[in-house]
Amino acid sequence: MYKNSYRPSRPSYGQSRFNPRRFSQPGGLIDTQKYIKKAVEKLEVVSDESTCVFADFSLPAKVLSNLTARGYTKPTPIQEKAIPSVLEGKDVIGIANTGTGKTGAFLIPLIDKIMKNQAERIIVMVPTRELGQQIQAELRQFAVGMPIFSTLCIGGANIQNQIYQLRRQPHFVIGTPGRLKDLIERKILNMQQFHTVILDEADRMVDMGFIQDITYLLSLLPQERQSLCFSATISAQVNTIIQSFLKNPITVSVRSQDTSENVEQNIVRLEPGKSKIQTLEKLLEQESFKKVLIFGRTKRGVEQLATHLHIKGFRAAAIHGDKTQQKREQAIRLFKDEVVDILVATDVAARGLDISGITHVINYDEPATYDDYIHRIGRTGRGNQKGHALTFV
Ligand code: AMP
Repeated sequence: MYKNSYRPSRPSYGQSRFNPRRFSQPGGLIDTQKYIKKAVEKLEVVSDESTCVFADFSLPAKVLSNLTARGYTKPTPIQEKAIPSVLEGKDVIGIANTGTGKTGAFLIPLIDKIMKNQAERIIVMVPTRELGQQIQAELRQFAVGMPIFSTLCIGGANIQNQIYQLRRQPHFVIGTPGRLKDLIERKILNMQQFHTVILDEADRMVDMGFIQDITYLLSLLPQERQSLCFSATISAQVNTIIQSFLKNPITVSVRSQDTSENVEQNIVRLEPGKSKIQTLEKLLEQESFKKVLIFGRTKRGVEQLATHLHIKGFRAAAIHGDKTQQKREQAIRLFKDEVVDILVATDVAARGLDISGITHVINYDEPATYDDYIHRIGRTGRGNQKGHALTFV
């Protein structure tokens, strides 16, 4: 990693605020052996790759040409399995992580649904703003040149704009539970109009404490509807939601593997006489650490770590829940565009992030649960690339 003088716009960076000891280290929650795993070299992806092509589904010609323009040559396994059932109007449970193409698995057939009935209204519920933005960006790409409209209803963004857009009756409303509730209470959003609902990353929503909000939002929907639920894992609470709100669902699942095969996982022990932060700096100085996502447990810790790294000459940005939406987007963009090569994040802020080419995920603070660990390390080793995950213990 090269150091340079990139300076984030945030003016309040200052060394005095940094205190490495403030970092919380829950430690010992997860067996450290679970953080160690050799990557499997994959020369080509064979596994359960799709054998079909998008043209095998009866999709509008424009969607097919948009997929080609987007560079999608064939469906991913979750798309191959889910698209036919969604097209048939069935309720679907998709067990899949981010990175599997799950967004396309529901957006592609639902675009067809709208093309067949322009009056159809679809609501997508997501745990985080970033995931909502990614879904809307993906939708726009799939629907280039088609009369398909969407509105993003997320916290941290101007509600008046959202109200204005909702009045124009978009086909897709993509939102986080809190903002959706707010819009319902203001009598702007009427849930009765949605005959298709998607719960994306349902496990994350439950983890983030949204279960009551989701239950409330789902209870406002019309009985006659198509419901889709995507989740990396089906916990007891996710199962409760599925049992109460989905009818005779079809379950589609992509290889339920513990952790990504092509992520080399290891632990980091402190070097004798070196502090945790010094050990991290030594790692980051290595040339192979080209694009690094570092996880911290608290918003404050993340901010302090990014500040410290910046002072030490690394090109680092931070995302966490205390940052404004604009700042979060800016940090993600800088990392995507490789203006910075280190992004320090909390679990919540990094949820659903889809950034290609991350070479290393570093768990500076241990994750609270093994499930969080799986989500964190899933940000590297995308596609057929090899990734590395290092956990400080
Ligand atoms: P997702 O799991 O929906 O977050 O998608 C993960 C990544 O895979 C995104 O960057 C998508 O653009 C990409 N992707 C989704 N479907 C396909 C496909 N059929 N072919 C190639 N890339 C895809």
